Amino acid sequence: MEVFSGLLQSRYNSGYIRYHPNTEDLGISHLMFADDVMVFFDGGSSSIHGINETLDDFAGWSGLHMNKDKTQLFHAGLSQDETNALSAYGFSAGSLPIRYLGLPLMHRKLKIAEYSSLIDKLNRKFNSWATNEIHSGQNTSFWFDNWSPLGPLIGVFGREGTRNLRVHIDAPVSASCNAGGWSLPHPRSEQEVNLHLYLTGIPLPSIDRGPDQFFWLTNGIKNIVFSSSKTWDALRPRAAIQDVAKHLWFSGAMPKHAFHFWVTNLNRLPTRSRLASWGLQVQIECCVCNSEIENRDHLMLTCHYAMVLWSQVRRHLRVSVPSFTDWTQLIHWTTSSSSTAPGNLRMMVVQAMVYNIWQQRNNNLHNQMLQPPLVVFKHINRHIINYIYALRHRKKFSSLMQLWLI
Ligand SMILES: [Zn+2]
Repeated sequence: MEVFSGLLQSRYNSGYIRYHPNTEDLGISHLMFADDVMVFFDGGSSSIHGINETLDDFAGWSGLHMNKDKTQLFHAGLSQDETNALSAYGFSAGSLPIRYLGLPLMHRKLKIAEYSSLIDKLNRKFNSWATNEIHSGQNTSFWFDNWSPLGPLIGVFGREGTRNLRVHIDAPVSASCNAGGWSLPHPRSEQEVNLHLYLTGIPLPSIDRGPDQFFWLTNGIKNIVFSSSKTWDALRPRAAIQDVAKHLWFSGAMPKHAFHFWVTNLNRLPTRSRLASWGLQVQIECCVCNSEIENRDHLMLTCHYAMVLWSQVRRHLRVSVPSFTDWTQLIHWTTSSSSTAPGNLRMMVVQAMVYNIWQQRNNNLHNQMLQPPLVVFKHINRHIINYIYALRHRKKFSSLMQLWLI
């Protein structure tokens, strides 16, 4: 997506696409979040032409096409002629406000009331994270701090609680006891009983015990200081850890190869059969051999081009490498290990193969240039040798050179 940003920005810089009047001073051409892109422009048809061209250029380069069904054009203050000129580009017209990430999206700044649902949600989360340990009871708010398992008491008993429990709204915890014990009135509700039960189980606050302590509670663990990384860890959505992950990001893995392999493993490469499955009118024959349907397993494993490359791998390893017919088989072999072909060597080779095959496929698609497989294998071989050499001082790499036969 950085490439897309670059392509778009250069057109804004050259004045080919003109800024939206409210974003010009800030120099904001577009915003991106996850798969979504918002492009701001002046409403002129020459600008939308430029935007369209950028999308086409990007699609040609990456194979990632804009989904027109999910794209909307929002405009205001245009004449009928201008509106007609824009509609010629085939975007459906949207009208504001829409909801995005749970918040209304509009042409003006949001009011606090419009944010409130989000703020409430955040407050609830944060309140449940900040906890106190009562010592003197003097610097913890009886009503607003999170010092008992019931959570902040104001949320449990409400404003009328201050009357029922006879504790002032601004009072610290120490105000609800004296040297003889807790001084709350006799409980009259189930929640009050719960509070009493809790209080009788904890030591009575006393000035001798020093100040109260505050903690951040993330995933049930108390931290004295706030840690943004632990907080993010508690907040972020998680998917089940893929078994292959620990092999894939082996110590010393080359980030661009490992990342590309990660994407390939999830079957997310924009192969022709995937593009077609999204409803795009594209040929589905393999970009390399032009005879079979292009999907990940064909391209990487059973295409004759890939098979020549794998046969070369076979000549360089001291272990038998099966002719892979599907991805599961490849993963099974790659995540196995033996003394003559340790796991990191297998993964390194497989990642380099997958990366290079995809590069060749794209090069053939976009530039009609396909290097012969033996030439490509030379690059792969050189890469592996250099890589092992660079990391030879690491324990897990020191023996690899003799296992990769030259
Ligand atoms: Zn093929």
